Amino acid sequence: MSLSEDLHKRRLAAVARGVGSVVNSYIDSAGGATLTDVDGREWIDFASGIAVTSVGNAAPRVVQAVRDQVERFTHTCFMVAPYESYVAVCEQLIALTPGTFEKRAALFNSGAEAVENAVKIARHATGRQAVVVFDHAYHGRTNLTMALTAKNMPYKHRFGPFAPEVYRAPMSYPLRDGGLDGAEAARRAIDVIEKQVGAGNVAAVLIEPIQGEGGFVVPAPGFLPAVAAWSSANGAVFVADEIQTGFARTGHWFAGEHEGLEPDLVTTAKGMGGGLPIAGVVGRADLMDAVHAGGLGGTYGGNPVACAAALAAIETMRELDLVAAARHIEAVLVPALRTLASSAPEVAEVRGRGAMIAIEIVEPGGLTPDPVRTAAINKACHDAGLLTLTCGTYGNVLRFLPPLVISDEDLQRGIDILARAIRG
Ligand SMILES: *Cc1c(COP(=O)(O)O)cnc(C)c1O
Repeated sequence: MSLSEDLHKRRLAAVARGVGSVVNSYIDSAGGATLTDVDGREWIDFASGIAVTSVGNAAPRVVQAVRDQVERFTHTCFMVAPYESYVAVCEQLIALTPGTFEKRAALFNSGAEAVENAVKIARHATGRQAVVVFDHAYHGRTNLTMALTAKNMPYKHRFGPFAPEVYRAPMSYPLRDGGLDGAEAARRAIDVIEKQVGAGNVAAVLIEPIQGEGGFVVPAPGFLPAVAAWSSANGAVFVADEIQTGFARTGHWFAGEHEGLEPDLVTTAKGMGGGLPIAGVVGRADLMDAVHAGGLGGTYGGNPVACAAALAAIETMRELDLVAAARHIEAVLVPALRTLASSAPEVAEVRGRGAMIAIEIVEPGGLTPDPVRTAAINKACHDAGLLTLTCGTYGNVLRFLPPLVISDEDLQRGIDILARAIRG
C-alpha cells in the first residue's frame, strides 16, 4: 500500500465525509508551481490551492516573514492590543484597490467572512436590507454566503433555511446569452432588480467581476460598468467580490480594472495571504466608518502571522511584477488552448483573463453541458500529474489557476498533459 493510500484509510475513519478532496494524494512538500506527495510523486500545480498561492507554494519571502513574526508574537487580538502589520495591510489594500477616494479597510479570516462583513457595512450605512446577487455566483459557505451563492449542489443542499433579503438577478454569460451584449444583459438584470426588489430597497449589489466557482464567466464588455452606474445612481453599495480574481491573478491588481470599475467596497482573500488565512474589506471611508466601534471584527481577524505573510506576498507581487506574469501566462495558455479547441469540438469556449483561464466542455454540435467528459479530462490530468480543477453551474468547466511564478517549462509541461487528456 502506498503512503497516500495508507493516509487515505486513516482519513476515512477520522475526517468527516462532507469535507471532500480533489485528489487522494497526500502532500509532503511544495515549492513554486509543483507539489510533491508523500510517495515522492511530483505534481504540476494548475490550482494554487484555489487561487491562493499566486506567489508560489512556500514563497521564500512569505516563509521568512512568517518565521520572523512567530518568534516575535503569534497573537494579541487587534481588538485588544493592536500592532503595526494590521495597519500596514490596510494601507496596502487602500493603495492597491481602484479609486482615489478616501478609503478604510478591515481584516478578517476567510473570504466568506469578508463578504458577510461587506453586507453588514452596506446595510448599516444605507439603512436598507436587500442584497442583489447574480446567477452562477459563489460567495462562500456560511449561512448568509450560502444564501448569496447560486448553486444548490454541493453548497446549499439541505442546509437551509437561508438568510432572507437576498435577490438573484440574471448574469451576463456571453456563451449562453444568445447574443445579448453587455448593455442589454445589464438592462435585463436591472429590470429584475427594479421590478422584483425595488431600487430604493437595495443595500448592496454584490458581484464577482469574473465568476469563480460559477464557471469563470467573463461578463460581456459594458455589463459591469452599467450595473455599477445603476447602483451608484440608486444609492446602492456596489461591492466587487475580488476574492478569487484579486491580487494580480487576472493581469491587473484587481479584475474590475479591466473595465475601469471603482467599486464602493471590495472583498479580498485567497491570493492576498500567500497561503495564510487572511481576508479584507476595503472601500469608501464614509461607508466603512459608518459602523460604530466594536461592530466589526473577530478574535483572529488580521492575525499578526497572517498579516506578515500578506505583506510579504504583496512585496513579492511587486518585486517579481506578477501582474505582468499573469499576462504572460495568458499569452502562452490561451493560444495553446485555442489550438487545442480547433480540433476538439467538445471545447465550446476558451475564456478568462491573466492566469484565470478556463475551457467549457459541451456535447459537440450544441451547447449541452458535458460534465461527464469534463470529469474524465480532469481525472486524466490528475493521472498524468497535473493538478487541475473543475467548476461551473453545470460542472462542465475545466479551470486553470497556476501560481503566477510558474516557469515557462512547467507551464508547457502542464499544457502538454492537458492536450493528451483532451485528445484522449
Ligand atoms: C473562495 C471564494 C469565496 C469564499 O472564500 P472562503 O475563504 O472559502 O470563505 C467568496 N467569494 C469568491 C468569489 C470566492 O472565490
